[in-house]
Amino acid sequence: MSRNIPISFEFFPPKTDEGAQKILQVHQQLCTLNPSYFSVTYGAGGSTRERTLSTVDNIQQASTIAVAPHLSCIGDNKAEVSALLHRYKNQGIKHLVALRGDLPSGQVGLGEIPYARDLVEFVRHETGDHFHIEVAAYPEMHPQSADYQADLTNFINKAKAGANSAITQFFFNPDAYFYFVEQVRKTGVNIPIVPGIMPITNASNLIRFADGCGADVPRWIRKQLAAYGDDSASIKAFGEEVIAKLCETLIQGGAPSLHFYTMNMAQPTTRLCKMLGLG
Ligand code: FAD
Repeated sequence: MSRNIPISFEFFPPKTDEGAQKILQVHQQLCTLNPSYFSVTYGAGGSTRERTLSTVDNIQQASTIAVAPHLSCIGDNKAEVSALLHRYKNQGIKHLVALRGDLPSGQVGLGEIPYARDLVEFVRHETGDHFHIEVAAYPEMHPQSADYQADLTNFINKAKAGANSAITQFFFNPDAYFYFVEQVRKTGVNIPIVPGIMPITNASNLIRFADGCGADVPRWIRKQLAAYGDDSASIKAFGEEVIAKLCETLIQGGAPSLHFYTMNMAQPTTRLCKMLGLG
């Protein structure tokens, strides 16, 4: 079975030369699934600036599949962000993921572009319609939002500022996604909202990421993961079953595309895509 749902894959910039080599192999393997694009994260405050740039350059040179650098704004000044935008534009990049980011601990000051909405406005001001801009969406609410309505309003404002589409934080409850999309549509905003999919491969990492970004790991998943202890084969098998079912529900419910947080690994995402007939 093969079906025509677009997919995209996210990498983070590796810290070592060995990691940089490995990511090229992972990239090559994932290219066989024919994704629409690969995105590369960016550490807020410029903390991964050079590594993000070299990862973007390396994977851009390795294939014809598009690359979408993430760009955060918190703590940065306009001149730095502008320089990056023009660098990307000049090297033929046409797709960006625009984020506020989270300041590294100890760093203070929001900088000249404090929120993602301001970044979207700045990108449009600097480069017009050159870039297709993705923004972040939070079906379970961003942890710093005052309430659900404030979070929704912030999302709508990012769309109205010029975002073309959105990628969600990962989640395990499809109803949260469908409800969020419904609330957005009621406001007349129609940009695609693409579910961000996190494969389950390691219980403690998953729970740490989820707690850090405010994603709810349902009790039945936590309990099952805890019961498997160090049995990584059972965790992976359980994780594949849970995430494949989630993806299937999202596709059946009309998700326009799926964006996979690959964690720089080829196998978990490849296995899920094969199970789902994607790619
Ligand atoms: P915003 O949309 O600006 O919102 C942040 C918070 O501020 C929200 O609670 C919002 O309600 C509130 N807010 C907005 N405007 C105002 C205002 N005017 N006054 C007061 N409050 C306001 N992080 C990285 O550092 N690098 C990455 O590469 C990266 N990639 C990501 C990719 C995806 C798909 C997702 C979902 C997240 C990613 N993140 C990344 C994490 C993201 O940066 C954090 O979740 C961050 O805390 C919020 O970013 P945002 O773009 O959603 O911010």
